[in-house]
Amino acid sequence: MNETVGFIGLGIMGRGMAANILRAGFPLTVWNRTAAKMEPLVAAGAQAATSPADLAARSDIIVVCVSDTPDVEAVILGPNGVITGARPGSLVVDCSTISPDATRRLAQALAERGVGMLDAPVSGGSEGAAKGTLSIMVGGKEADFQRALPVLQAMGKQITHVGDHGAGQTVKLMNQILVVGHALAMSEAFLFGQAHGVDLEKALTALTAGAAGSWMLSHRGPQILRRDWRPGFTIDLQQKDLRLVLAAADAAGVPVPATALIFQLYRTLQVQGLGSEGNHALIKALEHLAGFEVRR
Ligand code: NAP
Repeated sequence: MNETVGFIGLGIMGRGMAANILRAGFPLTVWNRTAAKMEPLVAAGAQAATSPADLAARSDIIVVCVSDTPDVEAVILGPNGVITGARPGSLVVDCSTISPDATRRLAQALAERGVGMLDAPVSGGSEGAAKGTLSIMVGGKEADFQRALPVLQAMGKQITHVGDHGAGQTVKLMNQILVVGHALAMSEAFLFGQAHGVDLEKALTALTAGAAGSWMLSHRGPQILRRDWRPGFTIDLQQKDLRLVLAAADAAGVPVPATALIFQLYRTLQVQGLGSEGNHALIKALEHLAGFEVRR
C-alpha cells in the first residue's frame, strides 16, 4: 500500500512534480498559497488541503517545493505550518533550493517533534519536472532516503543520496555554479559568432553535438535565437541561488570569482526590471556591453 503524499508549492516545478507523483499511484493532497493553482491537480484526482498543517495531518510524506529559505521556513515552521499538523513518524522532503545551514536547523526542529526530513533539491528544469526526469540530490538519513525513494523516483530519473542533512543543498549549489558558468559561456560564444557573421542556427547544431555541448546550450540556446525569454527558471530565483552560493563560499573561505561576476551581471538585469524573465536572458547583459544583439 502506497504511503499518502502531500505536496506544497505548485509553481513551475511543483505542478509537474506533483502530477508525476499522482500518476505513479500515490494518494496525493496538495496545497498552494495561490489556491487557483491547485485546480488542475484536483481535477486529476488530488485532494486540496486548506493549509500546510491540514496537508501534513493527512500525509505520511510531505514534499515541499517553494521559492527561498524564508518561504520554506514559513510553510514548515510558521502559523498553520507543517510542524503544527505533522504526525510523529512522518517525513518532510524539501525539494526547494535553500540554504544548507537553514536546512540543518529545519531538520533539527522537525526531529524534536519526531518528524524526519530530507533535503532533496532538483535539477533538470521545468522540462525535467514535467517529464519526471529530474536529477535529485538528497541529504539526510539513509532510512529516510530509502523510505522516500519511491516518491523521488516518481519525480526523477537520477536519485543520489549525497550525505547527511544539508549535503543535498550543497550539491545543488555546485549545480548552480555550473549552470551559470554554462549560461555565460553560451552568451559570449553567441555574441562572438554573431560578430563574425556566422549563422547561429548552424553553429548551435554543430556545437551541441561536440565537447562544448551542455543542457543549457541544448535547451536555452534555441530560445535565445528565437528571443523567447519565457522562464523555465526565473532570473530572480537564479539570483537567489547565487546569493546562497556566495554566502556559503564566504563561510568556507573559498573563492568563486566567476560566480561572483555572474551574480553582478544578473543584478544589472534585475535593476532593469527583467527578474521574471528566464535565466538565459543573461545574454542581454552582455549584449548591452557589446552594443549589439544576437539574431537568427
Ligand atoms: P515558482 O514557479 O516561482 O513557484 C514558487 C512556488 O512557491 C509557488 O507555488 C509559490 O506560491 C510558492 N511560494 C513562494 N513563497 C511562498 C510562501 N512564502 N508561502 C507559501 N508558498 C510560497 O518557482 P519554481 O521555478 O517552481 O521553483 C521552486 C523551487 O525549485 C525554488 O527553490 C527553485 O530554486 C527550485 N528549482 C527551480 C528550477 C526551475 O528550473 N524552475 C529548477 C530546479 C530547482 P504562489 O503560487 O502562491 O506564488
